[in-house]
Amino acid sequence: MNKDWSEKNKEMQALIGKAATLADGISVLIDLRNDLLTQISYIVYGYPSEAFYQMPFAGAAGYHSKTLAYSMWHIFRIEDIVAHTLIGGDDQVFFAGGWQEKTGSPIITTGNELKGEEIAEFSKALDAKALFEYCKAVKESTDALLQSLSYADLKRKFSEVDKNRVKESRCVSDDSDAVWLIDYWCEKDIRGLIKMPFSRHWIMHIEAMCRIKDKLCSIARKGADPIARCGLSCRHCFLREWCGGCRTAYNTCSDALNSPDRVCPNTSCCAGKGIDGCYECDEMKDCKKGFYAYDDIEAIKAMAMFIRKYGKKELLKTMDRLHEKYEFDKIQEVLGNELCEGLKILESNRG
Ligand code: SF4
Ligand code: SF4
Repeated sequence: MNKDWSEKNKEMQALIGKAATLADGISVLIDLRNDLLTQISYIVYGYPSEAFYQMPFAGAAGYHSKTLAYSMWHIFRIEDIVAHTLIGGDDQVFFAGGWQEKTGSPIITTGNELKGEEIAEFSKALDAKALFEYCKAVKESTDALLQSLSYADLKRKFSEVDKNRVKESRCVSDDSDAVWLIDYWCEKDIRGLIKMPFSRHWIMHIEAMCRIKDKLCSIARKGADPIARCGLSCRHCFLREWCGGCRTAYNTCSDALNSPDRVCPNTSCCAGKGIDGCYECDEMKDCKKGFYAYDDIEAIKAMAMFIRKYGKKELLKTMDRLHEKYEFDKIQEVLGNELCEGLKILESNRG
């Protein structure tokens, strides 16, 4: 489990165990939920729509066997049902906000009953960005509920009447893979529900989403040229778990994400000139487009210079050598800020 998330989760659990520290515990929980929602937002705004219905781990045992869209749907439908139908006895955000229509969902349930291809088909029907808006609305509503809880509320248990209300909502399928949820929730008190649907359940599914997106990026990179248009090596990039590279639809480098069409300026400029990369461009030395706009990391252009002189294969080998020799994330940590100096460092590390 992600160390920060796990530590915050443990801290929250300890704090909500005492009346005097309940408010602090809820504040840690909301902080954790903010971190987790931010992680989802990176995925929602970073990846193409096709990413949300892929099942790169189909058939595996575990939450990562689902899709990105299913994971979001499942976390927040469960939270909405538990927070409103079970605890609050009021309208779910889903119905009050007309989210079935907005998300395009064919179902209103938690999705536990869906199997195999049905999960991919269901995910394909969902609008991932609208779904994310639903997720945010549910989170906001639950955060308000959490902040309103007294220490005595945490001990509240659920009755047959509560159980029947959830059953009658038809938001949990009768399928054996789903129906157990009602007993599971109703056997807990509110403190128990905070520990599962409102915190740990998020962590488990969002970690699975990270596994799915890492795998999608690695699949996208397979067979693609590992040299980015700007001359960086995607194979050695510190963002490689998040980015499939600028030659794929999974390009999540910041310059691509900040461009309206999700194509980085270096990539679109190369396409306009009909060249493979900036290393083939006569204007490269003085170019300030895209990744070349940052004066403090000018040395990164040294890689394109190096490719021009020695070729892409030689750059990949030299990058391997630099990684064997030094521990670093960003290449500018080794090449420095100055272009000629950066090129000299690369050249001195050729085999
Ligand atoms: S951020 Fe750039 S260099 Fe890194 S993997 Fe993505 S396209 Fe490649
Ligand atoms: S002008 Fe700049 S961004 Fe465009 S191809 Fe040349 S070096 Fe690359």
